[in-house]
Amino acid sequence: MALLPIRIYGDPFLKKKAADIKHLSEVQSLIDDMFETMYENKGVGLAAVQVGKGMNLFVINAAWEKEDRNKGVEEVFINPIILKMHGKNCNMEEGCLSVPDLREDVRRKEMVDIEYTDRHGKKRSETGVCGMRARVIQHEFDHLHGILFVDRLPPTKKLFLKKELRRLAEENS
Ligand code: ZN
Repeated sequence: MALLPIRIYGDPFLKKKAADIKHLSEVQSLIDDMFETMYENKGVGLAAVQVGKGMNLFVINAAWEKEDRNKGVEEVFINPIILKMHGKNCNMEEGCLSVPDLREDVRRKEMVDIEYTDRHGKKRSETGVCGMRARVIQHEFDHLHGILFVDRLPPTKKLFLKKELRRLAEENS
């Protein structure tokens, strides 16, 4: 397994829309590398676009504990489609490996219904996914459409972070 370099805010690649994956055999080692990279950087999710691959793929482990990566469940979402976001609006603090050192409250729906293919090619469909998993899934799904969590902040908040974001963008574009 290999650690992959992570694209940082300001990198135009993060704004691209990802494409569907046709052959699962081509992404198996990428998936392993993505998990390795995610754990190494203490993340709970990682999208392929963050490591420079424009593919509809993200990996999550919403419950791993920083000292023990065997806790929690590793999940792979290939060509995911969010069918519905529903329930209450919730604010929860988020960070992103592509936006280092910045954490902010982001408002999202409490639940999602999602369809995707797992790494073994099995089609899966889940309704009413909630809690931390729903949060991480929405964050990673956004990456596949070129959206970062800072794009979801209210304009006043984004204005407040402008200097910080400009610094990141200048360092990484
Ligand atoms: Zn992210």
